[in-house]
Amino acid sequence: MTSALETINLTHFVAGERVESGPVHHDVSPSDSTDVVASWGAAADDLAHQAIEAAVAAAPGWSATTGARRGEILTTAGLEIARRAEELGRILAREEGKTLPEAIGEVRRAAQILQFQGGQAIRNRGQLLDSVRPGIEVSITREPVGVVSVITPWNFPIAIPAWKIAPALAHGNTLVLKPAEAVPASAWHLVDVLHRAGLPDGVLNLVLGSGRDVGDTLTGSAGLNAVTFTGSEGTGRRVLDRASAAGIRAQLEMGGKNPLVVIDDADLDVAVTQALAGAFGSTGQRCTASSRLIVTRGIHDRFVDRLSAAMARWRVGHALEDGIDMGPVVDQVQLDQDRRYVEQAAVAGREVVGGQLEAAETDGFFMRPALVLGTDPSDAINREEVFGPVASVIEVEDYEHALAVANDTPYGLAAGIVTTSLAAAHDFRKRAQAGMVMVNLATAGVDFHVPFGGRGASSFGPREQGEEAREFFTQVKTAYVAAGAVT
Ligand code: ADP
Repeated sequence: MTSALETINLTHFVAGERVESGPVHHDVSPSDSTDVVASWGAAADDLAHQAIEAAVAAAPGWSATTGARRGEILTTAGLEIARRAEELGRILAREEGKTLPEAIGEVRRAAQILQFQGGQAIRNRGQLLDSVRPGIEVSITREPVGVVSVITPWNFPIAIPAWKIAPALAHGNTLVLKPAEAVPASAWHLVDVLHRAGLPDGVLNLVLGSGRDVGDTLTGSAGLNAVTFTGSEGTGRRVLDRASAAGIRAQLEMGGKNPLVVIDDADLDVAVTQALAGAFGSTGQRCTASSRLIVTRGIHDRFVDRLSAAMARWRVGHALEDGIDMGPVVDQVQLDQDRRYVEQAAVAGREVVGGQLEAAETDGFFMRPALVLGTDPSDAINREEVFGPVASVIEVEDYEHALAVANDTPYGLAAGIVTTSLAAAHDFRKRAQAGMVMVNLATAGVDFHVPFGGRGASSFGPREQGEEAREFFTQVKTAYVAAGAVT
């Protein structure tokens, strides 16, 4: 299974050049400490500055390129990524730890995003209005923002870079991308493919490095016009502070503590299937994970029994192993955090189903899915994002109680309900305080052609993905044109 796996040597991309620099790091698989997926040198500030300068230099040429040409490059890249989905999926599964089918699915998603946003490049519509004054026409158009810094997390190593980069490029911006330290190989391939698809030098620069070393440069330096970030809440706040001080726009996607409400009239099969996938798919390492299961009294025991039984059947193992349901946790730090939440809940007297370390043939971070029962909405596990295969159950009286508990969170990314009642589904869609609402579906699992984002502490700035992505990556110009002398 792990034999003959290649180690790739990664470079930065600055002004179209593949640059090697910095102390060498190893991208080690969370499934197997002997599998080195890639080696790469970590950038220091000077390289980050050079990348910004390259993006600044490339901006006038790229913004003047036709949307048709920009779209063609994105579409070409999307086709290559789709064609190489298995190969790139293996690299992704090795470096991040999600199962091979999940990883291949993510690569295909990245390809679809590139193709969709490639189409958007020629749909940069404006408006033409009569002025309130005679003889004058007013046009409203959208222009590129300029140079955008793109900072991405480890949990979706190719899809998140793709969903930020693709609309940014489609709308004529130039970029510096810094992916998370744990998953540089997937981002490197995305950048490599885009260059070979015809992206001019300097339009998309890649800086591999630690956020601690180059994060401040990439969020507050002269030359930048915007920063788009996905990651933890603490880092997001710092990014926002830096961007505000520099007077540039920021778009942040941060945490979630997403409720999945299950009420008495729910179809139990649907409830269990969606809770399982939502809570533990991608090892629970998704900002949209269904981490709070809010269940009304009449169905609670049956739901918990069925979900616990389904969890016990789940196979946890090496990301490349056939037939596994869940891969490893991404690293030791995350594993310790996941286990700490479970242990704290147990110490506080909560019943825990699963959550043990799983023995495996390889040295990886394997943990069984954990369900914490009998929790109170005020428990740490219901207030803070765990970002692992850990879900809690909160038992409630009825639908109104469930809705109140669902909305009782500083976050507001996604909220779901499982019900056969049209009235409850309709009411939940209107009153759930979240950017995305799911009915009879897990909170995780979204489409690429519609807006993605949340409320409260989950998000800041305009939505990502779909046509809506244009909001962040363009700026509005209002022009007044008089054909001749105006009376
Ligand atoms: P996680 O804890 O999930 O790794 P982080 O928010 O730390 O989430 O990381 C998300 C991204 O932000 C990564 O690419 C990381 O390198 C980057 N990052 C970390 N610290 C900073 C910082 N101070 N400024 C900008 N980016 C940072």
